Amino acid sequence: MKIAIIGTGYVGLVTGACFAEIGHEVICVDCDEAKVKLLEDGGIPIYEPGLEDLVRKNVKANRLRFTASTQEGVEQSDAIFIAVPTPPLPDGSVDLSFIERVARDIAAAMDGYKIVIDKSTVPVKTGEKVAETIRRYCKSQVEFDVVSNPEFLREGFAVEDFLKPDRVVIGVQNQRPVAAMKEVYGPLNAPIVVTDINSAELIKHAANSFLALKISYINAISILCEASGADVTEVANGIGMDARIGRRFLDASLGFGGSCFPKDLSAFIKISEHLGYDFNLLKEVQRINTHQMDRFFKKILDTLWVLKGKKIGVLGLAFKQNTDDVRMSPAIELCQRLQNEGAELQVYDPEAMQKARAILENVTYVETMDQVAEGCDALVIATEWPVFRELDLQKARKVMTHPILFDGRNLFDPLEMERLGFIYKSIGRGR
Ligand code: NAD
Repeated sequence: MKIAIIGTGYVGLVTGACFAEIGHEVICVDCDEAKVKLLEDGGIPIYEPGLEDLVRKNVKANRLRFTASTQEGVEQSDAIFIAVPTPPLPDGSVDLSFIERVARDIAAAMDGYKIVIDKSTVPVKTGEKVAETIRRYCKSQVEFDVVSNPEFLREGFAVEDFLKPDRVVIGVQNQRPVAAMKEVYGPLNAPIVVTDINSAELIKHAANSFLALKISYINAISILCEASGADVTEVANGIGMDARIGRRFLDASLGFGGSCFPKDLSAFIKISEHLGYDFNLLKEVQRINTHQMDRFFKKILDTLWVLKGKKIGVLGLAFKQNTDDVRMSPAIELCQRLQNEGAELQVYDPEAMQKARAILENVTYVETMDQVAEGCDALVIATEWPVFRELDLQKARKVMTHPILFDGRNLFDPLEMERLGFIYKSIGRGR
């Protein structure tokens, strides 16, 4: 099929490249002309495993191209996916101005029947508004269908998740676009859930809020583990073996972040409020998450006492492993808190340093993970990059002024760390 993707960010670029990979003819649109130029010149604006090869291959095969013109994208496609940002407003509700802008741009360019598919994460009932907007701004009486198709990919595993999804959710107002949507996703052989638009939109917020809830749940358990001498990893393993619960999203940490969970939680709380329900359960999920960061920071303060003039090495800046995304990253928040207390920071991340530079100033960015411990009073692990497990701890101990390690991701074994002579503080491990 001929497909346009409006918005070529983490979701849009992955969607475009993967649709091209399964045989569709894709045109990715972005209003950021510098990004379009970079892509046209063979560059990739984000780090995502496997993405660069996929983009190159499909550009070469003439199945994938880029433009800054929404009109061009719309005119040359049958199905138009919207993948623009839906950021939070100061009160936590969703800024839908990007969606509205794109709906108007699509309407202005429509020259025949089109399927307009929303992939951005939006509040329930947004599909109705998009349809209304297109109808209002459309110059001629062309036919169209609006579809909700929320995206569930995880950054860091985006290509894999997109090509092998647990399910594809398709929300429709009538049956007309269903066959075409099944054709779009057919080659993936994934389970397809066809439902109404409102349910599809709710599925996305309900799913993300549930995953955030699962993380906060284990983080709350981590408090009990610390107070009782239990080990949260053992507890997570024990409860996770229950098929009804599952082990994933049960890793205690300094809290979740990123461009999705915090914003989608706030949005869902606001959406519920508008619908007349006070979703206190989700407010508690947020509270636990903030508290978890506070607790971790307090561990550092309690151990180091005064931070002014202390040198701290930080491993990890991305909001999680396998990505260069630093939006709402707990690692960045932690760095800023440490800086506010007067600490001097030496930081390293395998992929996120370039993006971090724009928001984290006055720190020393080092080239390798082994350099980060040099001359430090303490080390902090803030992101769960698997490569950090390979840190040469003996060497780190020798080059640090004090062997103190705060592990916000439980990457190391407390007994082993003790044996190596570290003062080691992690999450939810009572000993
Ligand atoms: P992003 O910021 O990485 O990309 C959005 C892109 O849209 C940017 O390149 C921007 O320049 C472009 N854009 C903005 N307005 C435009 C316009 N009028 N015309 C053309 N392009 C425009 O955002 P993202 O992380 O890809 O997220 C997009 C949506 O997908 C959001 O609603 C998000 O909640 C949702 N989502 C994100 C993820 C994720 O892991 N990042 C996962 C699932 C869903």
